[in-house]
Amino acid sequence: MAKLLEGKPLAEKIKEVLKAKVAAFKNAPVLASIQVGENAGAAAYVRSQQKAAENLGIVYQLHQLGADTPESQLVDFILKCNQDPGVNGIIIQMPLPAQIDYKKMSRLITPRKDVEGMHPQNIGKLVFGNAALVPCTAGAVMELLTASGVDLYGKEVVVVGHSEIVGKPLSLLLLEKFATVTVCHIGTSKAGKLQDHVSKAEVLVVAVGKAALIKGEWIKEGAIVIDVGINRVGERIVGDVEFEGAEKKASYITPVPGGVGPLTVTLLMRNVVEAALLPHGDGS
Ligand code: NAD
Repeated sequence: MAKLLEGKPLAEKIKEVLKAKVAAFKNAPVLASIQVGENAGAAAYVRSQQKAAENLGIVYQLHQLGADTPESQLVDFILKCNQDPGVNGIIIQMPLPAQIDYKKMSRLITPRKDVEGMHPQNIGKLVFGNAALVPCTAGAVMELLTASGVDLYGKEVVVVGHSEIVGKPLSLLLLEKFATVTVCHIGTSKAGKLQDHVSKAEVLVVAVGKAALIKGEWIKEGAIVIDVGINRVGERIVGDVEFEGAEKKASYITPVPGGVGPLTVTLLMRNVVEAALLPHGDGS
């Protein structure tokens, strides 16, 4: 039976380090959070960010703009935050209304305040292995793998999902550790090859958003399974992996909820602190 890889205890350890760092700042780091329109999911995420920030002594500035805000107004607002020396990090909450192009907006954020690590310049640094601001969910997966004690060097690692926020940056982080990385996606499934790849994985990371996509019996004996997926099934939140079957075969497995999730918001806060410590941040 697999051991549980829980995110909360790890998040607590990281928070202790962050608290000490924040306490050493002359001015508390400031995260500007921009929300356009209203959405129940986004509101819950904002609340958890707000709580995490306040708990660490980070100032969380929530800027709520109306659902009909024109793109040009958001552009001006982001540029203002870029210029504001009192703002260390900027995050744009998803989803955005139809008139606003998220990619365009996220690229306007100055790279040193890009706490989600999604600016092309920060992704470029990830490619070269010297990123200061790592995308939070990919970073959370790496923290969980470190906690499992696995040596990734030469391991067969399969990542299911190739999104810009999770699968792609994660595969770069894994390559940095000399893992043998296979990235699967919808094309792999359509070609009928998903099970083949998954069953070879010594480390499996799934970030798709489809409940029970990965069957328990596909899991290789002793594999480490990180389930990033978040799916609502009736009243329950479940991941992308059939947990009951998978836990019988894996050596370690993340619960959903309680695995990747609690770490993601903590790593966002770590990026705010890192951003404030970058040249021209106001650290120390
Ligand atoms: P996305 O929709 O951007 O990407 C989904 C990926 O899954 C794509 O690569 C797509 O090709 C692949 N895919 C879709 N159907 C597939 C199939 N049948 N077989 C194989 N691959 C398939 O999603 P995302 O934003 O990367 O999020 C993925 C999941 O992770 C979602 O459930 C999301 O809620 C969750 N998530 C969790 C956290 C967290 O903190 N725990 C953070 C980010 C995302």
